[in-house]
Amino acid sequence: MDPQHNLKKYNTLAVDSVCERYLSINSLSDLETLPKNLKVSDMLVLAGGSNLLLSPQINRLVAHIQPRNHIQIVDNLVVAWAGTSWHELVVWAISHKLGGIENLALIPGTVGAAPIQNIGAYGVELKDVLVWVEIYNWQTGGYHRLSNEECHFSYRHSIFRYHDQPWVISRVGLDLRPNRPINISYPALSQHLADISDPSYADVAKAVTEIRQSKLPNPQQLPNAGSFFKNPIIERDLADKLQKKFKKMPFFPIPGKSDILKTSAAWLLEKCHFKGKRIGDAGFYHKHALILVNHGQATHDDLLALVHSAKKAVKSRFGITLEEEVRIV
Ligand SMILES: Cc1cc2nc3c(=O)[nH]c(=O)nc-3n(C[C@H](O)[C@H](O)[C@H](O)COP(=O)(O)OP(=O)(O)OC[C@H]3O[C@@H](n4cnc5c(N)ncnc54)[C@H](O)[C@@H]3O)c2cc1C
Repeated sequence: MDPQHNLKKYNTLAVDSVCERYLSINSLSDLETLPKNLKVSDMLVLAGGSNLLLSPQINRLVAHIQPRNHIQIVDNLVVAWAGTSWHELVVWAISHKLGGIENLALIPGTVGAAPIQNIGAYGVELKDVLVWVEIYNWQTGGYHRLSNEECHFSYRHSIFRYHDQPWVISRVGLDLRPNRPINISYPALSQHLADISDPSYADVAKAVTEIRQSKLPNPQQLPNAGSFFKNPIIERDLADKLQKKFKKMPFFPIPGKSDILKTSAAWLLEKCHFKGKRIGDAGFYHKHALILVNHGQATHDDLLALVHSAKKAVKSRFGITLEEEVRIV
């Protein structure tokens, strides 16, 4: 276990951060070396660092899941080690002509982090294909599998988001199949594929990749953590009131729920003039208001100050509280 480790290059917002204790995790046997007496609040699992805003000093043991692709087919399921690159898994599935995750191409980060917020994009979420999540309990030293239902998945949420259990996700099992129908219901995707009569999984992944590259900044060129806020889910009463006042405000139905609606956090931020706004080196991306970016030397506090001012402005204009998608540690 190393003392004092610099985490700047391990978080895609590229903020300066050091931790008190650092442990590199390459395998199941490394996981099993985690101290059994460690409290949940004394541990931070770090993987690709693409969904985190880190404090300058992390007074916890950082267990850093190292990038290493390991994918197998076991009992007709695709089973991948937590450190596998998510995008590499998508590429692997397509090369094996297996469908189900092609819409999730180019999402940064690892397989082990994917269940945490039930990653989603272009009309598909991880929960649509996930069969089980294997966790390692560092306090008992045992492994346990949670079924899809036991993970309590919903929009950018799962049981793992509470971070109140001594668990590290070690592997996931996915049901990817050669005969899964493609899903191009998302308007930007169907428009992009309009000229292809019978798109393959590879065509869908290519379209998603092209759309994402045209909209989202590459963290290696402009540090960011993707969407900083979740799209808010609000009561229909409030939605009705807002619709009267803001005719163009977008609302999206939530299947099976008639009393709540989803709206667009990017739209709310744009209306409050945060698209492209910059204070020092902290900013919101000029092409997409939802993406908090580090133009150079922004610190954790600089970024958080901008986040707070955006939340305040949205709350005061629309009465909506934005909730962070990125985990602030
Ligand atoms: C440019 C960009 C675009 C993005 N687009 C999307 C998108 O379209 N859809 C989407 O859903 N997300 C998106 N994200 C967010 C991010 O890519 C995902 O949340 C991803 O799953 C994070 O993976 P990671 O390995 O980087 O996790 P990290 O950022 O390292 O960790 C994220 C959280 O997961 C926990 N964690 C990580 N690994 C484990 C493990 N093995 N066991 C237990 N806990 C663990 C961490 O403690 C932390 O709480 C985007 C990010 C960027 C930078």
